[in-house]
Amino acid sequence: MKNHSQVCVIGGGVVGCSVLYHLTKLGWSDVMLIERSELTSGSTWHAAGGFHTLNGDTNMAALQGYTIKLYKELEELTGMSCGLHHVGGVTLADTPERMDMLKAERAKHRYMGLDTQILSPAEIIEVAPATNTAGLLGGLYDPLDGHLDPSGTTHAYARAARMNGAEIQLHTKVIETNWRTDGSWEVVTDQGTVIAEHVVNAAGLWAREVGAMAGVYLPLHPMEHQYIVTDDIAMIYERDTEHPHVMDPGGESYLRQEGRGLCIGFYEQACQPWAVDGTPWDFGHELLPDNLDKITDSIEFAYRRFPALKKAGVKTVIHGPFTFAPDGNPLVGPVPGLRNYWSACGVMAGFSQGGGVGLTLAQWMIEGEPERDVFALDVARFGSWTTPGYTLPKVIENYQTRFSVTYPNEELPAARPFRTTPMYDIQDQLGAVFGQQFGLEVVNFFAHGDESRYETPSFRRSNAFAAAAREVKAVRESVGINEVQNFGKFAVTGAAAREWLDWIMAGRIPEEGRMSLTPMLSPKGRLIGDFTVSCLAEDEFQLTSSYGYQAVHERWLRQNLPDGVGLENISDKRTGFQIAGPLARHVLSGVTGADVSAEAFRFFDVKRMVVGMCDCIVQRVSYTGDLGFEIYTDAASQRALWHALWAQGKPHGMRPFGMRAMMSLRLDKFFGSWLNEYSPDYTAGETGMDRFIVFGKKSNFIGRQVAEAQRAKGAKRKPVVFEVDALDADVIAYEPVWINGVVRGFCTSGGYSHYAQKSIAMALVDAEHVNEDLEVEIEILGDMRSARRITVSPFDPDGQRMRG
Ligand SMILES: Cc1cc2nc3c(=O)[nH]c(=O)nc-3n(C[C@H](O)[C@H](O)[C@H](O)COP(=O)(O)OP(=O)(O)OC[C@H]3O[C@@H](n4cnc5c(N)ncnc54)[C@H](O)[C@@H]3O)c2cc1C
Repeated sequence: MKNHSQVCVIGGGVVGCSVLYHLTKLGWSDVMLIERSELTSGSTWHAAGGFHTLNGDTNMAALQGYTIKLYKELEELTGMSCGLHHVGGVTLADTPERMDMLKAERAKHRYMGLDTQILSPAEIIEVAPATNTAGLLGGLYDPLDGHLDPSGTTHAYARAARMNGAEIQLHTKVIETNWRTDGSWEVVTDQGTVIAEHVVNAAGLWAREVGAMAGVYLPLHPMEHQYIVTDDIAMIYERDTEHPHVMDPGGESYLRQEGRGLCIGFYEQACQPWAVDGTPWDFGHELLPDNLDKITDSIEFAYRRFPALKKAGVKTVIHGPFTFAPDGNPLVGPVPGLRNYWSACGVMAGFSQGGGVGLTLAQWMIEGEPERDVFALDVARFGSWTTPGYTLPKVIENYQTRFSVTYPNEELPAARPFRTTPMYDIQDQLGAVFGQQFGLEVVNFFAHGDESRYETPSFRRSNAFAAAAREVKAVRESVGINEVQNFGKFAVTGAAAREWLDWIMAGRIPEEGRMSLTPMLSPKGRLIGDFTVSCLAEDEFQLTSSYGYQAVHERWLRQNLPDGVGLENISDKRTGFQIAGPLARHVLSGVTGADVSAEAFRFFDVKRMVVGMCDCIVQRVSYTGDLGFEIYTDAASQRALWHALWAQGKPHGMRPFGMRAMMSLRLDKFFGSWLNEYSPDYTAGETGMDRFIVFGKKSNFIGRQVAEAQRAKGAKRKPVVFEVDALDADVIAYEPVWINGVVRGFCTSGGYSHYAQKSIAMALVDAEHVNEDLEVEIEILGDMRSARRITVSPFDPDGQRMRG
């Protein structure tokens, strides 16, 4: 075994081998993989080997598409067989909601270039005759679905990596990973020690234990999982072609042909977590004892859906463990707080996702950043607040809902409430219906009287519609109050703070007492942040951006932090409220001695002032686009601040408002939002954020050269806002935009403007097709809805109220 390597990948399952191959594919050959046993000795060897593109998250679907297309390339490269069966697959829908979901997926696939089709029950029988279509409304057919040989595929990755110079060390167990002062790692094994510049944790079932060797907790947990292979079934082996996969969300099962019979697996409600106290090191190439009792209900259901199963004998039962993260997506990327330590674990669908995970990680390590937005799989989407006590119930919930409909407005209940602000019980008494962001309870809307305290999960307008309308009306006609907890916030301090901010941000850094909006760019010119920067003193700044994205931002800011600049994540420390609406100034002036008149406190000013009893930082800005103020204080004073504002505001008709109203209000002003209109998938020029880039500034800010080149070239896509002739469903995101029968763009977000009483869609459209009077069709849940471009925002188009 060599004693020095640029990269040491720990774990020779499908994921570790894919990472190793992709590192070599992108040009690094001084790389090694250490496996405690033989390759595939964790979850990999007993997988059913199925692969699918369908995923509610568009970027995950693209990553799965990449993985599936890679197998042919791997076979050609290595001459080895992956045992590919591209038999196609049908996902069934037995409720209108499931049908809505499939139609929404189908629509997304149109601009992703995936050739899926909606099938009628009769067409399902033609394609997948083992299916009893009683009670089915339809299905979604994906020709790319199929299955492979898990072991052959893993060995093909390994051979391809070896062909490019990688070394694979078998029967070698990593027992310690020690951080060295030069940023490299000492990887101690039972066969000797390797010094590695980078460590990748791809230890699958043991990723928790391997993470602990570096002092980190990775939020994942193993679950038991079972599938059954039947004896021969005549109606299957007599067919000329192989039977396709059938995913039946109603029965929580997936089915496919295996040899001359069928293979069916279940995501049962009575599921069992495995190895709660840690994965035993002596767990080898072995299975768990069969447990058909826990899938009795699922089997009964399957007999009705696939009657041929009933008469077939059971040939084999495969029962083994595999890992899940709390949301079921992989945990990939640089682990926050550690240098050169990378995660490639929590991959519950290694054969749908392993290739994309390997590519993403290799790009990140070698090129400094992945090519697209990877938030859905970024290990930093979970903060340091995650604990085993949080992860376990979330993982069980995820397993149980693996085949459920994923609704855009759904708030899953497990492990909640967990993190709350001091306002939680006050909001609860006011009828709050909570959602969750980055583990924190945030108010979505306030129910009144006997209205339900539960938002119906739906692709269409939900029961939050009336509440949001009420809250919007209060903001636009009198004054609304909303907790500003859900911003990620950072304090940046020190004599060199301004100079550093001027380099890390592409926009203007404001003078003392002022604020500015600025994009943050990656070295490749992608948009990695949209920040508000407030200058509180020449050596003190506050940054605000997305709450859910805070750990990703913090990781980037710390990676680029010079000596002499202080950075503190104050997201949960500095909190408060925004008040917005025509009476907002009136309310604020009643609770502060400071002069908050339009002349003394201008739009985009920031000031320290006492509000009620509390020392506050007050900003003259509101994401509602209305006359408004963001009022921050320390968390311990938040309730006192609330009581002062509420007592003063109530006589003026003040109402609390939540995120549903907020997302409607911002549409009135065409304000974009993070990970919708603005994301690492786009350049600043495509989103219109380039208007905040100061190309003329002295600083050679990150991403400058690329941004200049992009500006010179002009953006290929343009942001456009449409008014949509919607019925009961508004745009959510990624619906295709059709122009004369051709898809020319897609929606980034949308919703209903309660103020304008219009359905609004924000979209990116090919620049060559954008004109003033653009008329398009937007495909919402399978229906073509006409839409017209609007260029003047429905509320306060000249900004008189906002700036007044
Ligand atoms: C019954 C069942 C059916 C499944 N069916 C499918 C399917 O149809 N499609 C699909 O996509 N997925 C399926 N999966 C999931 C799939 O198996 C996993 O997603 C995949 O195997 C994860 O691979 P991995 O490389 O991350 O982890 P693992 O396969 O667990 O590999 C981790 C490796 O790391 C090694 N290792 C750990 N610690 C150390 C150490 N300290 N030193 C050295 N080496 C170490 C282990 O020996 C092991 O070989 C199924 C899983 C189960 C249980």
